[in-house]
Amino acid sequence: MNEIIALEAHLADIRALAEAAAVLGWDQQTYMPPGGADSRAAQMAALSTVIHEKMTGPETARRLDAAEAAARGDGPDSDAAALVRVVRRDFDQAAKLPGNLVAEMARVTALAHAHWADARAASDWVRFAPWLEQILDLTRQAADHLGHGGERYDALLDQYEPGTTTAEVRALFEAIKPDTVALVQKIAAQGPDAVDASPLSRFYDEDKQKAFGETVIKALGYDFNRGRQDRALHPFCTSFGSGDVRITTRFDPHFLPMALFGSIHETGHALYEQGLNSRYPGALGGAASLGVHESQSRLWENLVGRSRPFWNHFYAPLQAAFPDALGGTSEDQWYRAINRVAPSLIRVEADEVTYNLHILLRFEMETALLSGALPVADAPEAWNKKMEDYFGLTPPDDAAGILQDVHWSAGLIGYFPTYTLGNILSVQLYRQADKDSGGGLAAQIAAGDFAPLLSWLRENVHQWGRKFLPKDLAVRATGGPLDPAPYLAYLQDKFGSVYRI
Ligand code: ZN
Repeated sequence: MNEIIALEAHLADIRALAEAAAVLGWDQQTYMPPGGADSRAAQMAALSTVIHEKMTGPETARRLDAAEAAARGDGPDSDAAALVRVVRRDFDQAAKLPGNLVAEMARVTALAHAHWADARAASDWVRFAPWLEQILDLTRQAADHLGHGGERYDALLDQYEPGTTTAEVRALFEAIKPDTVALVQKIAAQGPDAVDASPLSRFYDEDKQKAFGETVIKALGYDFNRGRQDRALHPFCTSFGSGDVRITTRFDPHFLPMALFGSIHETGHALYEQGLNSRYPGALGGAASLGVHESQSRLWENLVGRSRPFWNHFYAPLQAAFPDALGGTSEDQWYRAINRVAPSLIRVEADEVTYNLHILLRFEMETALLSGALPVADAPEAWNKKMEDYFGLTPPDDAAGILQDVHWSAGLIGYFPTYTLGNILSVQLYRQADKDSGGGLAAQIAAGDFAPLLSWLRENVHQWGRKFLPKDLAVRATGGPLDPAPYLAYLQDKFGSVYRI
């Protein structure tokens, strides 16, 4: 077993460098003055080069070979076998991409980001189109180096959701699309005033929002001794090891949900990170995938934070914190307001029902762009047509349409589906946790007791880290594969009640 320990020790060094890079990234988005941008970019590029070289270098190869030989006699479910499997995957993926391609991708995306921001500000697709052409070209090359069985998107998806294929994602979307579109139409038929969302946009003092939000996330189990919350332009969660998992949020004094549900969402990510290393301190102690990560944030944000039992517990304290805004608003009015469904142009503002349609649209766009079936020049028109088909809306310009997301400019193609995978899994996990508690989850949440749910997640998801592929983890935790049926039933149930249909 010495070879296994030696491999872990070597990887711990690489991981320490990656965590140091994460500290720099966190600082860049929270406290760094604008003048730090150039030297910070140089620091992060230097670190990422060292990390890539160490990860793909001869020492990793040698130690991995030795560890594989040592683990050979162990069963496939053993920790040693899982460790070498995961490290082999990481090593091969990193080694398959030629250094010059990685460097070119880094160079092009760094420039593309500025051109995307500029194009979005001017709502001018033509300014971004040549950059997307280049990114697609480099992405196709990367997919070919990584390897695939004819579907390049498989290789990209596999980087974010190991073991999941394009065909599987397509089948999930096919399954949820008809019911989702039908539900959106049923809700739309109620008229825009069926649910009054005005309580959300009254005046909410920022400091009081911060205090209330911290009370909530502490109650959920976020450990401030092993984390902190700061302000940033975009909310995110970052980990420097399970003893230091940080989240950020942003406030709008005239729109409470942004900070509150943003904090709960990031707390879901953070609870996962804070729970990861309990069993495996080493290379297996990372997140299973982006989809599993998102299942955690969505579970806490939507299934807990936007549920009736949650507000049975938290509405009185919320009203007490904001008597002017909510003194005359009932708990039921509040619950319905935070669950209002309204087709919108912008993904990040989407409600639970329409959210996956935004992802479906992007998945269809990405696969068509990558294969070349959709020329970049025609992309805005294709986007707008889909918006019309799925939402009945036409973007007034490309800034509110195809230019809204940062992902493609950063070279993140194949990433979007993980949001929907997370949504689907979140419901399956919640249901299983409820079943295992004898159907007691709602009562526990209504009593402000979130510990049983958190410990179920620790036990069934968090502690396993990367030991299992996401689809195997889902089977182990929920008794079956990823299944859209419980998710659709949940939407029908919840929004049928919110809209009384
Ligand atoms: Zn998230």
